[in-house]
Amino acid sequence: MGVDVGGTKIHGGVVDREGTVHRKHNLPTPVESEEAFFAGLDHVVESLLDDDVAALGFGIPSQIDQRRGRAVASVHIPLANLDFRDRMAERFGLPVGIDNDGNAAAIAEWKLGAGRGASNIVVLTLGTGIGGGLILDGKPFRGAVGGGAELGHIVLDYEGARCRGACTGHGHFEVFAAGSAADAVAVARFGAGADARRLVDEAENEDHGAIGDLAELGHKLGAGIASLVNIFNPELVIVGGGFADAGELILAPARETIEVEALPLARETVEVVLAQLGPAAGMVGAALVGFEALDSAG
Ligand SMILES: [Zn+2]
Repeated sequence: MGVDVGGTKIHGGVVDREGTVHRKHNLPTPVESEEAFFAGLDHVVESLLDDDVAALGFGIPSQIDQRRGRAVASVHIPLANLDFRDRMAERFGLPVGIDNDGNAAAIAEWKLGAGRGASNIVVLTLGTGIGGGLILDGKPFRGAVGGGAELGHIVLDYEGARCRGACTGHGHFEVFAAGSAADAVAVARFGAGADARRLVDEAENEDHGAIGDLAELGHKLGAGIASLVNIFNPELVIVGGGFADAGELILAPARETIEVEALPLARETVEVVLAQLGPAAGMVGAALVGFEALDSAG
């Protein structure tokens, strides 16, 4: 079973090793207290649990300490300093794997989506912020304690605007190129209530202002990607999340910036492509993290 724990919704599903989703259950994420949060989460698991389920995997929007299976801190959900893996293993009596939600989506695209067969991949998820994960030398990158890579917080302009939420930084990647950045641009062009979806729709209807706005957002996306390309020399950069619906309207300008900002060897190697798994990537990736726990449990 894979459970994608989002800031607004919990998406659970029973998933096989090939990524086929057999059953699903969704719930708005209770965020008023830790107790309510776990009541909701347990309900999703219980409603899907049967003898076919061999392990549980969770993708959580939190900093994860893999040594203890602990959720250390979270921005959008009431979860901090809790031994999440042990709690779930004790409660449900199954092997449990947990990972950062960005890592879970990256693993799904690597194993079953646009990244199949590649060994060095950067996955970016353009939502409210920019999430994502890295596959390096054929395995998910988790860092010293397992927190993974916070790709949305690359510093593009250290004198720039304050970053979002609990981040104290300035001019970070997600300030420039996340879906929420596109929402703000849409409001500036079309007025209150407009959002990234509107911007994309107008651009697809040949609105030159909207096309220009998306090109500018795409160039900024390309600046962040170029930094990642220079550091990691990936074969693939996979771009997903809601704002990736803009497709070539942002990816083509992004590639232009990468041509300038990335160094020759790295930019000649890399391909920038759209994600293939859509919104299910988080849940499917969480299930793959569950299989990882099952396999390492023997
Ligand atoms: Zn930041």
